[in-house]
Amino acid sequence: MNSLLKVNDLKVHYLLANSVVRAVDGVTFDLKENEIFSLVGESGSGKSTLAYAIARLLDSSYVRIYGEIIFNGINLLELSEIEMEKIRGNLISMIPQDPSAALNPAYTVGEQIAEVLRYKKGLTHKEARDLSIELMKKVGIPDAEKRYLNYPHQLSGGMNQRVVIAIAMALRPRLIIADEPTSALDVTVQARILELLTGLVKEYGSTMLLITHDLGVAAEVSDRIGVMYAGKLMEIGSKEEILEKPLHPYTQALLHVVPRFHKKKRRLKPIAGMVPNLSSPPSGCRFHPRCPYRSKECVLQEPLMVEVEPGHWVSCNLYAMEASYHA
Ligand code: SF4
Repeated sequence: MNSLLKVNDLKVHYLLANSVVRAVDGVTFDLKENEIFSLVGESGSGKSTLAYAIARLLDSSYVRIYGEIIFNGINLLELSEIEMEKIRGNLISMIPQDPSAALNPAYTVGEQIAEVLRYKKGLTHKEARDLSIELMKKVGIPDAEKRYLNYPHQLSGGMNQRVVIAIAMALRPRLIIADEPTSALDVTVQARILELLTGLVKEYGSTMLLITHDLGVAAEVSDRIGVMYAGKLMEIGSKEEILEKPLHPYTQALLHVVPRFHKKKRRLKPIAGMVPNLSSPPSGCRFHPRCPYRSKECVLQEPLMVEVEPGHWVSCNLYAMEASYHA
C-alpha cells in the first residue's frame, strides 16, 4: 500500500518561561492509504500534540516543530498558513475530543455544517442546507430537518459528536485525525460513534489516524497500532502483533492494565512509577525508570527503532542486535 503520510524525525517542543517541554521527540512513522492507524499511550505521552502538529494547529508563538510531515508528497511544515488553510477540511480533517468545545454555542448545528460547505465548496445557502441535512441523516441524527435548527446545548454529547463527524467528513477528506473521539461520551454511545466513524472512513476511502489512550478502542478498529511513551514511539505493528505478540516492555505493561472479561482470575497490574516530566526526560531509554528489564546500557543509551519482522518495529535494547533504523 502507498503511504499517504510520512512523519520523519518529528520533534515538537513547547517553549515555556524557564524550560523546554519535548512533547514529541524524534517520531518517525507512516500512514498507508485507506488504513486506520491508532496511536496509543498514557496521558502525557505526546500523542495529541503529534496529532495537532500534523494538522498544523499548534500556536507557533510558543511551539517549535522540527522534522518533516510529508502529506501526499508535500511537506506540510513548509507551507504558509494560507496554503495550509486549503488543505485543512478539504484534505485533512480533525475530530477533537470534546464536541461541546468544538461547536460554536451561538450557531445552530445545521448552520455550522452548512458554513463549511459554503466556505470550502462554494455552495449556495440552499445547496449547503440540503446537503447538511443529508449529512446529518448519514451520521444517524434523527429528525435531521428539525435538528438542523438546534443549538449544541439542545443536543446530547453523542448527537453533538455526530455533528462534528458530519463537519469533518463533509468534504470527504483523505486523512481524518480523530483525537480521543469517544472519551468524552457515555460508554453506551461510544461503540456506536466508533462504528459510525470507521464505517464512514471505509466508505469514503479515507485514512484515519486515531489517537486513544484506550487499547480496547484501538483493538476494535485499527489495522495497525503505534505505541507512544514520553514523546517517543516505542513499538509499531499490525493490530495482531501489538495485541497478541507485544515486544516492548511498555506495550506489555499497557496490555496488563486492560480488563479482559473473558479471562478468569486475571489481576490487572498497574504500571509502576509515573510518566516522566518531559522538560527533563530520563537519559537513555525513557521507559527505563519503570522497566523491570532495564540494564546499565538502557540508562546510558537510547535504543534504536529496529524491525524485528516485516512491519513490526520496536525501540528497545532487548532487540537492538537487529538494528536497522526505521527510515
Ligand atoms: Fe526496558 Fe531497556 Fe528496553 Fe527500555 S531499552 S524498554 S529500559 S529493556
